[in-house]
Amino acid sequence: MSESTKNQTITDFFACNVFNQTVMRERLPKNVFKAVMQTKTFGTALNSSIADVVANAMKDWAIEKGATHFTHWFQPMTGITAEKHDSFISPTSDGMVILEFSGKELVKGEPDASSFPSGGLRATFEARGYTAWDPTSDAFIKDNTLYIPTAFCSYTGEVLDKKTPLLRSMEVVNEQALRILKLFGNTTATRVMTTAGAEQEYFLVDKALYDQREDLILTGRTLFGAKPPKGQELEDHYFGNIKDRVSDFMKDLDEELWKLGILAKTEHNEVAPAQHELAPIFTTTNIAADHNQLMMELMKKIALKHNLVCLLHEKPFAGVNGSGKHNNWSMSSNDGQNLLDPGDTPMENMQFLTFLCAIIKGVDEYSDLIRLSAASAGNDHRLGANEAPPAIVSMFIGDELQSVLDALENDTTVTGSSSVKFKLGVDAISSFTKDSTDRNRTSPMAFTGNKFEFRMLGSADSISCTNVIMNTVVAQQLSIFADELEKADDFSSALKALLVKTIKEHKRIVFNGNGYSDEWIKEATEERHLPNLVSTVDCLPTYLADKNVKMFEKFRIYSKTEIASRTEILLENYSKVINIEALTMIDMAKKQIYPAVMNYTKEVCQNLSSLKSVGIENAAAEKLANKLSSLANSLDEAITALEQSLLDSKNVEGVLELARYYRNDVFAKMQLLRAIADELETNVSEKYWPFPVYSDLLFKI
Ligand code: ADP
Ligand code: MG
Repeated sequence: MSESTKNQTITDFFACNVFNQTVMRERLPKNVFKAVMQTKTFGTALNSSIADVVANAMKDWAIEKGATHFTHWFQPMTGITAEKHDSFISPTSDGMVILEFSGKELVKGEPDASSFPSGGLRATFEARGYTAWDPTSDAFIKDNTLYIPTAFCSYTGEVLDKKTPLLRSMEVVNEQALRILKLFGNTTATRVMTTAGAEQEYFLVDKALYDQREDLILTGRTLFGAKPPKGQELEDHYFGNIKDRVSDFMKDLDEELWKLGILAKTEHNEVAPAQHELAPIFTTTNIAADHNQLMMELMKKIALKHNLVCLLHEKPFAGVNGSGKHNNWSMSSNDGQNLLDPGDTPMENMQFLTFLCAIIKGVDEYSDLIRLSAASAGNDHRLGANEAPPAIVSMFIGDELQSVLDALENDTTVTGSSSVKFKLGVDAISSFTKDSTDRNRTSPMAFTGNKFEFRMLGSADSISCTNVIMNTVVAQQLSIFADELEKADDFSSALKALLVKTIKEHKRIVFNGNGYSDEWIKEATEERHLPNLVSTVDCLPTYLADKNVKMFEKFRIYSKTEIASRTEILLENYSKVINIEALTMIDMAKKQIYPAVMNYTKEVCQNLSSLKSVGIENAAAEKLANKLSSLANSLDEAITALEQSLLDSKNVEGVLELARYYRNDVFAKMQLLRAIADELETNVSEKYWPFPVYSDLLFKI
């Protein structure tokens, strides 16, 4: 425990830096508190006099806690968060200051946002953007600053961030899910929320070693590095003892997260050496997205206090498991139901099956978007590489649920181990044993008892895009279902027909087997015709497919222009990442690796000639000298080829074409350069090798 929380229990300091419901109840007049709660739950707008009262209470609370500044905290398309700090001071006529914070300042900010990516949306002459308070996510204090979660738009209203579409998508899924609940006779639910719990993987490396690696500093991953003698093959790290230094870091991290009201719950070692995971307790998708951003930020910051560096890159080390982020997703209603919980009674079962079928249909029809939500240069190293799910989207539902869907489709009764009798609308599916539904770690999207766990996301990704897409896709299907069912004369038989049809048409997306096998790739692509969008450049163009644009426009999540801008930003980002990596490799190869090889070769040759001068032949030394000199030549050629490839990129026109060029040409040449350098690493004396190697980075903590 740190000084400030010594002698305190978690409950004493949990959420102590959050302006949450408890604080608001204490500090706001009753009517104001009620209005804010109404806004938090139903998204109704706050009028300006109420906003003034809230702002004032927020300011007083923040100042008591030592805050001097406030910031509108937002999530531009850079993938990380942005903030601009203003102090609370306001001059008075007598030359002094008072501390002020108005409702207007709370509700709206105007950051000069011209340097954030807009994908051509904002002309430079109209570079202003504005930020708007998101009252559904609590304000908090960090580093003596009051943080106000906000959405970020251009002046003409185009979305420039990751929060706005997420809030919109939560709204539409709420509307459509309520229609379905109503059809099932529900009169108590007035709000449906989507929930997410993001399990976060990361690596920790020693700061002093990190500082010696230009690639880690500039790109977040090692661009060179031969396989160490020991990797993860003994599986002795997974859930193993946590080293003291790491455990001190984890304790500190938990404490800081708890102060911000983030429900950090489970910390454990992961499969790879030096890899760990942190899982929070789930919450609504927009808060989960905010919290995940804060979590990543605090991980990095707190690691430094322990002389460690937290690597969030998806693939910091070749040949060692990469890091992902599992987005656990579900839906719940404000009358206390998890809508993805199979439940115990026939009606609950049917309701559950309706939501399940809607999700299955949605994932099948929009698997390209779901895949795309996990696309990035970093994540390309994981997906499909036998450690993360394959790049093909499919769903795992487990044997028991599978037998229920089969029975429904074939109008039969479920028999077998689960001893469940299932006849539509008659018997209950009472015994989904929650634990039998999972542990297929090879599935991109696994039903895990009462939620879907999406495992494609990369560790550095924001979870927003995935949740926007899940929410929208599911809203779309629920609206189609509701349209059909609302006009049916006989609800039960219409529902049954609808579900049977859905299962028949979309069961190809359900796959309960081993997603890592080659047979699956063959079956998925050849028999089931599922898309296999291997890399970022393969999936990004599908963003603008007609069906996708139609859906986003129908639900007013994005306009076509906004989708085009997002696609462009992501493609540009891809090319930039590879470009930086290529330049870093060239730099390291020329300035560090090549000179090291020369120095070592010189030493070997000097030894050789002094031996020769006294008449001793040394075949081994001669062989080594030859090998070094031939590898040095290859290294030089590979550097030249990569440099040429980068020069040629200047002739490529079009964002997509350029991204493809980076993938097919530049990236391929980077791999060649790396292979030679890694071979040199295993042949050059460690005395000369210019930077720490994998065994240092992975095992010296
Ligand atoms: P594991 O995947 O290790 O078995 P759990 O199943 O307990 O662990 O939970 C994994 C993650 O799923 C946690 O972050 C948890 O909060 C989250 N989760 C659990 N229930 C839900 C839900 N209804 N909606 C969204 N996320 C959930
Ligand atoms: Mg998990």
